[in-house]
Amino acid sequence: LGIHYLGQMHENGMLRIVLDQLTNGQLDWIELDAQFDTVIVGSRQYHLYSGKQRFAETMKKQFPQEHEAIDKFMKLMKTAAKGASLLAVLKMIPLWLSKLLIRTGLIYWISPVFRLAATSHSELLNDLTSNKDLQTVLTYLFYVSIGVPPKDSSFVVNALLLHHYKRGAWYPRGGASEIAFHIIPVIQKAGGAVLVRARVKCILINEDGKASGVTVVKDQEEEKVFAPVVISNAGIFNTYTRLLPQKMQTKPTIQSQLSMVQHGMGSFLVFVGIKGTKEELGLKSTNYWVYKHNDLDELMTSYASLRKEEVADNIPMFFITFPSAKDPTFNERHPGNSCMTILTMAWYEWAEEQVKKRGTDYDDFKMNIANKLIDMAMEIFPQIRDKIEFVEAATPLTNQFYLSAPQGEMCGIEQNLSCFFPEVVATIRAETPVKNLYLSGQDIFSCGLAGALHGGLICTCAVLKRIVYIDLICLKKKKKKKLKWTSKKKEA
Ligand SMILES: Cc1cc2nc3c(=O)[nH]c(=O)nc-3n(C[C@H](O)[C@H](O)[C@H](O)COP(=O)(O)OP(=O)(O)OC[C@H]3O[C@@H](n4cnc5c(N)ncnc54)[C@H](O)[C@@H]3O)c2cc1C
Repeated sequence: LGIHYLGQMHENGMLRIVLDQLTNGQLDWIELDAQFDTVIVGSRQYHLYSGKQRFAETMKKQFPQEHEAIDKFMKLMKTAAKGASLLAVLKMIPLWLSKLLIRTGLIYWISPVFRLAATSHSELLNDLTSNKDLQTVLTYLFYVSIGVPPKDSSFVVNALLLHHYKRGAWYPRGGASEIAFHIIPVIQKAGGAVLVRARVKCILINEDGKASGVTVVKDQEEEKVFAPVVISNAGIFNTYTRLLPQKMQTKPTIQSQLSMVQHGMGSFLVFVGIKGTKEELGLKSTNYWVYKHNDLDELMTSYASLRKEEVADNIPMFFITFPSAKDPTFNERHPGNSCMTILTMAWYEWAEEQVKKRGTDYDDFKMNIANKLIDMAMEIFPQIRDKIEFVEAATPLTNQFYLSAPQGEMCGIEQNLSCFFPEVVATIRAETPVKNLYLSGQDIFSCGLAGALHGGLICTCAVLKRIVYIDLICLKKKKKKKLKWTSKKKEA
C-alpha cells in the first residue's frame, strides 16, 4: 500500500544503482508524468515539473516575482543535498571523534550543512520570501514524512525531500509489493532466509551482555535463532523498549538515546476502488497535495488541537494519488478498474481511546473521516463520484497492526528539528550500546524508502567495517563509462 512514488531513480543515479543491486535488476521503475505533483493551496494550483533545470524554471514561471528567492532556495537545496552525506559520515566515524568535532565546533568549518540542519525550515523560508504560497510549495511534502510543522523541522530534511523529486518521480512496475518480491531471491541466493508472520519476541543477550540471537515466534512455537550479529530494522522504540530484556532497557546509554527521539505522526488512509480505466476516467499519474490555506505552521497547530469529534469537519490537508494510473500492469491485473488513495495525518490518541471499545462507534468515527476525505477529493475529480465501488479506511491502528509501528507511526520516529542537531545525528547510529546489536532503517537516518535505504547502508558499513559507499561510487563510475561507450556506439 505504501510507496506512492520515489525520486532519484534516473538511470545511473545512486539510489537506482542500490535498488538494482538489491533486486538483481529485476524491478522495473516507471516514470510518472513530467508534471508529477500538483499543490493546491485554497483555490490556487501550482505544478511541480521534473528535470534538473525545468524544476526551478517552471517554479519561477508560476512565481514571477520570486526569482531571487527561488534561486537562493535552489542553491541552499544543493548545499543540503551535497552535505547530506556528511550527516551520514557523522554517524559512521567513531562516536568519540564525532563528539570531538561537535564540541570543538570543527564540523561547522567542514560544511555549512550542519548549521542548515539545525535551522528551522520556517525560519529560513521567512528570510527568503514573504510569499506564503511559495513557502507552501517549498514545503509541501512535509507532513507525510516529517510529521511536525515546518517551524519545528529542519531545513535540511525539507530541502532533501524536494531535492529527492527534482529529477522526477517513479513507481515500481506492479506496485510496492514487487520491491520485496524481487529482493527475497537475492537474500536467498546469498544464503539467507526470509520468514514471514514470524514475530521476533526478544533479542537474546549472552552472559557477556552481548546480543547473540533472537527468539522468533512462528506458528505459536518459539524458536531461538543464534547469530554473531543481530540487526534490527524494527525501529528504535520497538528494539529498545520491546525486544531488549528489561535490564538492558534501563542502561543509561539506551535511555539517553530514547530521550533524544519521539514517536512520529500516524496516518489516515482511504483506499477507493473505482469502476473504469484511467482513460475512461481521465486519470493521470500526477499526485495532488491539497492545503486549506498557506500558513502551514498554523494549519498543523490547529489540526493538532482539534478534539476527536471535530476532525472530520476540519481536515486541513490531504494527498490524493491514483496508483492504478501509475502502473502499466494495473489494467492487466484488474481490467476495467482503477484505484485512488487519499491520505492525511492522524494522531494515535484518536484511535487509542477506542482500543477497548472498538465497534460501531469507532467504525462511524473512522468512516465519517473517510467519507469527508472522499467528498473533498470529489471536488477535484467529480467524474469519479458515481463510479466508486469500494471504500476501506486505515488508521494509526492499522500501522500498529501491520507495520508493528508502536504508536501507529507512518514513518518511524518524528523527524523534528532536534533530530538534526549534530549531537543527535551522531548518537543515533547503527551501533548500539549493546555489543553485536545494530540498528538499521529509517530511524537511524531519515524517513522514506531512500532514507531507510541509507539507514541500511550505514548499518552495512558498521557491521562489515567497510565503507560500502566507496564500492557504490566505483560501480557508478563503471556504469557511467559503459553508458557513454554504448551511446557512442549507437551514434556510430
Ligand atoms: C502508507 C505509506 C505510504 C508511504 N509512501 C511512501 C512513498 O511514496 N515514498 C517513500 O519513499 N516512502 C513512503 N513511505 C515511507 C516508507 O514506506 C518508510 O519510510 C520505509 O518503509 C521505512 O523502511 P524501514 O525498513 O525502516 O521500516 P519498515 O518498512 O516499517 O519495516 C520495519 C519492519 O519491521 C517489522 N517488525 C517490527 N517489529 C517486529 C518484530 N518484533 N518481529 C518481526 N518484525 C518486526 C515490521 O513488521 C516491518 O515490516 C510510506 C509509508 C506508508 C506507511
